Amino acid sequence: MNVLGVVPARGGSKAIPRKNLASIAGRPLLAYTVDAVRASRRLTRVVVSTEDAAIADAARALGLEVPFLRPVELASDDTPMLPVLQHASRALARDGFAADAVVLLQPTSPFRRAEHIDRAVDLLESTGADSVVSVVEVPHPFTPVSVLRLDGERLHPYLDGDTVARRQDKPRLFARNGPAVLAVRTRVLEEGSLYGRDSRPLLMEAAESIDIDGPGDLALAELLLGGGRLQVPYRRPDEYQKVDVARLRPGDSYKQLIAKRTHPIDELVRAHGRIPDDLLTPRPCPTCGCAAAALELEKDHMRIVRCTACDLVYVSPTFDEAHYKTVYRSAEYQDIVRDLGISSHEYRVQRFGLERVDIMARHLSAVRPRMLDVGCSTGFVVEAARDRGWEAVGLDLNPSAVEYGRRRGLDLHAVALEDAGFEPASFDAVCLFDVLEHLIEPVRTLRACARLVKPGGIVFLYVPNYDSASRLLMGRDAHFIWPTHHLNYYTPVTIRDLLRREGLRTEYLATEGLDLVDYLWYRREVHGARDEGVEAIADLLQFFVNAGAYGKNLRVIGRRI
Ligand SMILES: [Zn+2]
Repeated sequence: MNVLGVVPARGGSKAIPRKNLASIAGRPLLAYTVDAVRASRRLTRVVVSTEDAAIADAARALGLEVPFLRPVELASDDTPMLPVLQHASRALARDGFAADAVVLLQPTSPFRRAEHIDRAVDLLESTGADSVVSVVEVPHPFTPVSVLRLDGERLHPYLDGDTVARRQDKPRLFARNGPAVLAVRTRVLEEGSLYGRDSRPLLMEAAESIDIDGPGDLALAELLLGGGRLQVPYRRPDEYQKVDVARLRPGDSYKQLIAKRTHPIDELVRAHGRIPDDLLTPRPCPTCGCAAAALELEKDHMRIVRCTACDLVYVSPTFDEAHYKTVYRSAEYQDIVRDLGISSHEYRVQRFGLERVDIMARHLSAVRPRMLDVGCSTGFVVEAARDRGWEAVGLDLNPSAVEYGRRRGLDLHAVALEDAGFEPASFDAVCLFDVLEHLIEPVRTLRACARLVKPGGIVFLYVPNYDSASRLLMGRDAHFIWPTHHLNYYTPVTIRDLLRREGLRTEYLATEGLDLVDYLWYRREVHGARDEGVEAIADLLQFFVNAGAYGKNLRVIGRRI
């Protein structure tokens, strides 16, 4: 299907002048619709329809196409939307672009996301309906059986008969939420209708449906999208728990891991001296979809680039998805994980599992939370949660790690998230520890996790911190810069941006790491240096590194709004 997105952005607006450029959390309102458009898979082309030259310039600066200026007679306060969409679709048809469907994207809906657009177009296609429009459930006090009218000075039921008090006796009713998304077939528009006869609903949450109409809505959006500056929780030095490196990395397992780190490409490099070009495919930015990127560094015969639009650092080109599946299922990788994971499982439960469960518990109100750990390895967090009385489930693609956890009585499964068959909104917390950095399409997995979380529930994730002391001290030699396996490199800023784009509000961000341990190890193993002075104060130094958000492991909790 050829799908044309139309963003109507008039300059004139009664309540807020140039509302579409009003600032929310430091960005123009229009930018939030641009984020959704960029990440959408289903829009073939997107144009802005405006009569205002300043808005046209701003839209172009954000990367949107403005192929025409809207005639002023279609830009008054009472112009209906139908002729605006007809005008846009006809203008492009004259230009050789025939759309099968048009998607109206009001910039006044900053909480509408790419997944809503894609679900609306998918639904339009699969049902054959005339249109799909986003709706929000009408809050029960506002249903017609509850509302009242004024008769003189007295209140009367709006409908004849008594008002209905019991919530379960009231009908479920829906209202168009802006609409944030309207996908309509071009044929229906040409027949003179905006919705046609067969219109289907795309249900959105109340918080996703906020429509920026007046200054009060702007203030609310500022609160939800901005939330002030990034906050790093302060911890006292005596709360800082040391890590027993000998127990975490028993024997020479860590040295083995680093020695074997290029195992998937060793054969190729031996045979060809490099990775053959036909095995690699360039990819757009995995957060924002922008194709423009600048080279950041090269390592292990692969390139790491930085997105010019959103600043994310990521590997491009990459192998295809099948390659990575093979790598993670390979005996060699499973051996690495088994050696590191199983030998330290009990230590990990006590040192890391309980710590992670405690952090989550502070952000959950359920008495017996239901938690899912995606990429659970041997299940050391699942075990800690179970021991606290939680209902805890884990998924991992490594059968030997899962088998180990199952023998300990844990509810682990060696299946992919998309094959697990969980109900939407069925978990209080979904965890992604050390997962997103491995994925070609991290948004797909994060989105799937966000949908499994109940509204008000949390996603808790760990990723390596690209802006960490490890990277600043060791540069490209930092161990986590591992482009054959780590495809995405987040910072406190870019991870928060990613969560926001998926409807998750960051409410906790902390870093902790073994930056100093790793740095001293590197100095000793690679450069033969002796750093007794630094070694003596390494733990204290690490405390300050963590407190400043420069620790190697970035921990983030995003709440589903
Ligand atoms: Zn980007």
